[in-house]
Amino acid sequence: MPTSKILPYDVIIIGAGINGCTAAYYLSQAGLNVAIVDKTGIAAGGSGAAGAFISPKFHKQGPLKELMDEAYAEAMTFYSTVLASQTLLKPLLHISQDDSEEPIYLEHSAIVDARSACESLAHGIDFYLLDVQSPTYHDNQWHCEDLQSTYLVLTIGAYPKILPIDYVGLRGIWGHRIDVTTSTDVPHIYHQFVSISPTMKEGVIAIGATHDVHYSPFDSSATYDIESGRTLLLENAAKTLKLNNIIILKDYMGLRSGSNDYMPMLGSLVDTEATLALHPHLQHGKAVDPKEFVYYPKAIMINGSGGYGFVLAPYLAKRLKEYLVDEIAMDETLSPSRYFPRWAKRKKG
Ligand SMILES: Cc1cc2nc3c(=O)[nH]c(=O)nc-3n(C[C@H](O)[C@H](O)[C@H](O)COP(=O)(O)OP(=O)(O)OC[C@H]3O[C@@H](n4cnc5c(N)ncnc54)[C@H](O)[C@@H]3O)c2cc1C
Repeated sequence: MPTSKILPYDVIIIGAGINGCTAAYYLSQAGLNVAIVDKTGIAAGGSGAAGAFISPKFHKQGPLKELMDEAYAEAMTFYSTVLASQTLLKPLLHISQDDSEEPIYLEHSAIVDARSACESLAHGIDFYLLDVQSPTYHDNQWHCEDLQSTYLVLTIGAYPKILPIDYVGLRGIWGHRIDVTTSTDVPHIYHQFVSISPTMKEGVIAIGATHDVHYSPFDSSATYDIESGRTLLLENAAKTLKLNNIIILKDYMGLRSGSNDYMPMLGSLVDTEATLALHPHLQHGKAVDPKEFVYYPKAIMINGSGGYGFVLAPYLAKRLKEYLVDEIAMDETLSPSRYFPRWAKRKKG
């Protein structure tokens, strides 16, 4: 009879996009034994499609802007040191869409070669091609087929959930971008209706990306119209810069995963059934301290970075490492549990 061999790890990371690969990099650098699992391959999701600009959020003060400023500073250091050969440092010209504000010229900005960045971060870390349906926890360990680990980290972006955590509201935002050649000089990165930017590839200009909340590849009735996506990209680019003799080289498409409040998520996952059994009055809108919720043991999610996954990934991965290795508490304001009380109340209705 064939016997399966258990493969033990400290951490299994499900999802090999920029969040999974950066988390794997930080955790393995800290000495943990890490496995990365993906159903399709490295950078197969939104990460492989990304233009991967590293820029802060312009305008709109508040907690998100503060977080993004910190994440942008950490990302610039991370990509220019750890991934120097996948990172092109270029100034960025940000122009408001209605010309109501003065353009901002940002000296320090970058564009990252998304796919090779993910591959480089995952290099030397055990990788398994596996479509995880529902990981299980028993005997103090997480199990995904033959893999087992103390910690489980979910970085599956906008893909269907693999634990019953319906309270975590995520929006898939479809994006399309193109690589082109043009006889027009593009000296720096332009951000206006779309981005226009030089890339790591000599003579190749990136134009992107569209934002479409209506199309999803998970809706079987839908087919995406590439031609209309290209037209939209070129029309929007032309409003910023006249690009001559354009030849389209390649299309990239994928889903961003956005949270309802635009803040990213890093934190433990509420076991909804156990929590509602313990605190049924949550369904009547009664406030319960999130510390009193029941959480899946040692399961953490990183998600909801929207169009800023490459900017936020080093920041979030570093906080995850500080939590798992240095026992520094995670920021409660980023916890996915922030959505749970409202969901529990609505569930009753
Ligand atoms: C067109 C476009 C342009 C963008 N431009 C930028 C930009 O300029 N700057 C920026 O910072 N961000 C940008 N983004 C956003 C950024 O790409 C995303 O925020 C980021 O990719 C999210 O990464 P992730 O690792 O969370 O998810 P993903 O990259 O989507 O990775 C999820 C992975 O999980 C795997 N998976 C899912 N379910 C399972 C399962 N059950 N079992 C095993 N594996 C599973 C998938 O195969 C996939 O590889 C852009 C995105 C798009 C689409």
